[in-house]
Amino acid sequence: MTKPTLATVWLDGCSGCHMSFLDMDERLLEIAERADIVYSPLIDVKEYPTAVDVCLVEGAVSSEEDLHKIKLVRERTRTLVSFGDCAVTANVPGMRNPIGVKPLLERAYIENVTLNPGIAFTVVPALLPTARPVHRVVKVDVFLPGCPPSADLIYHALVDLLEGRVPDTTGARFGR
Ligand code: SF4
Repeated sequence: MTKPTLATVWLDGCSGCHMSFLDMDERLLEIAERADIVYSPLIDVKEYPTAVDVCLVEGAVSSEEDLHKIKLVRERTRTLVSFGDCAVTANVPGMRNPIGVKPLLERAYIENVTLNPGIAFTVVPALLPTARPVHRVVKVDVFLPGCPPSADLIYHALVDLLEGRVPDTTGARFGR
């Protein structure tokens, strides 16, 4: 029988949600039995494949690059999961929203820098005016809150999703 395909994507987040994914420990082997992991920062695949069954998206949509990526991921994914508080609410990346992009970049790259101050427009993806939760940009099917979501929550949600069920996230909390 063909296994469902699973992807994970990292937008503007600290990678803590992916670290919690790894905290499933030996249950990762069970997930690998239940699904083909076809794209993730944890594996060496460069291009997001077509027809992905389940994708966990960590992080807010903060840059032009994030925007391009999440639209492509949405087009190619059956069940899209907002994975963690940054994806669900913008959380930490959203703290820059009241500041504005220009003052933010000047503060970070000019005012607080003593050696070669300057804003790197060519090598850093351009920021969007605000960091947005994923569902403000594309349709999201399932929300997994937590900063990060616990390994237990991720495991139980994945088992349900890979078996075609909507996970019960009643006990899930924002933050910790
Ligand atoms: S939700 Fe928390 S752990 Fe996950 S990316 Fe955001 S800050 Fe990091």
